[in-house]
Amino acid sequence: MPLWPLAQARANKWRPDLTKTVRPEPVEGLAGASTGSARTELAWAGFKPTKPKFIGKRVFRNFDLAELAKYIDWGPFFQTWDLAGPYPAILSDEVVGEQATKVFADGQAMLKKIIEGRWLSANGVIGLYPANAVNDDDIALYTDESRSTVALTWHGLRQQTEKQEVDGAMRPSRCLADFVAPKGEADDYVGLFAVTAGLGVEKKEQQFLDAHDDYSAILFKSLADRLAEAFAECLHQRVRTDLWGYAPDEALSNEELIQEKYQGIRPAPGYPACPDHSVKRAMFELLQAGDIGMTLTESLAMAPAASVSGFYLAHPQSTYFNVGKIGEDQLSDLADRSGVAVAELKRWLGPNL
Ligand code: SAM
Repeated sequence: MPLWPLAQARANKWRPDLTKTVRPEPVEGLAGASTGSARTELAWAGFKPTKPKFIGKRVFRNFDLAELAKYIDWGPFFQTWDLAGPYPAILSDEVVGEQATKVFADGQAMLKKIIEGRWLSANGVIGLYPANAVNDDDIALYTDESRSTVALTWHGLRQQTEKQEVDGAMRPSRCLADFVAPKGEADDYVGLFAVTAGLGVEKKEQQFLDAHDDYSAILFKSLADRLAEAFAECLHQRVRTDLWGYAPDEALSNEELIQEKYQGIRPAPGYPACPDHSVKRAMFELLQAGDIGMTLTESLAMAPAASVSGFYLAHPQSTYFNVGKIGEDQLSDLADRSGVAVAELKRWLGPNL
């Protein structure tokens, strides 16, 4: 797919569609606001961000594993065993049903032991900060409401492949910064989090390995991964309904949470909308993730392995997308914005070049 120059992609950025969100009553002079220049100018005018209950960090230590178990998405559990198919249908699948049912029963039994025997502990930390989009594609998180001191800048990447009109509307060239109000438009907020359910994994895993029980070792590690993802889901729900509180009336089943039916997203560095892993260093520093036993390896993998980190964006129209291929112009622009040399950026962003 041919690429547009970065400037053209930026001019085609995503803007909130006021006909779908935030402005319930018709506003004079805003007719046709969903297309054309009126929309461009007024895009953020009616947006009223919800102010979180607190600004800064909150730590969760030794989180109740039984509570986390309620949030487990069992779907990916079967992939550990190369068993393909959606849960729970996989349990009665003609081909893999029998094997899936066996590992599921083993998983349930071990999960009970993990909880009762406290084989693992789960720690997490979240942060909620005043934030705005700056320099088109970056999100600046500020230490306080004065928005004068930057706590962390998350440098975004923007889709650069040529876009086309679909049903008379140009598809936007997306960047996560588009979902946050630009500085001066509205006092917006962004959150971030780091959670782990992998504290204690190594000791127990070693016991299984010493007993030449590889099956239990793998089962155990996959359950730690499930609990870490469940922790991310559980805290995100608390953030939406209470701590940030932008969706206080949300009432979703676990199935609906897994289907991401809630307002807002939690993009994770390294995933398609934000392929650059390097922001994890700044995230871990701001959250002081070391204090809860979480660190980063040289290659920016999280340790313990059963960990999840990401950002919280609240905009009702925020969605995941794939940045895809970017051009040399965006790479050098990112180098200017971030102060990281082009050569190093190339190392991290290889698949997007
Ligand atoms: N229920 C799943 C589980 O338990 O494994 C949740 C994890 S799954 C990897 C989905 C998560 O991946 C999202 O919550 C988000 O953090 C991340 N994610 C998915 N698509 C993404 C994208 N395009 N850009 C950024 N993050 C993405």
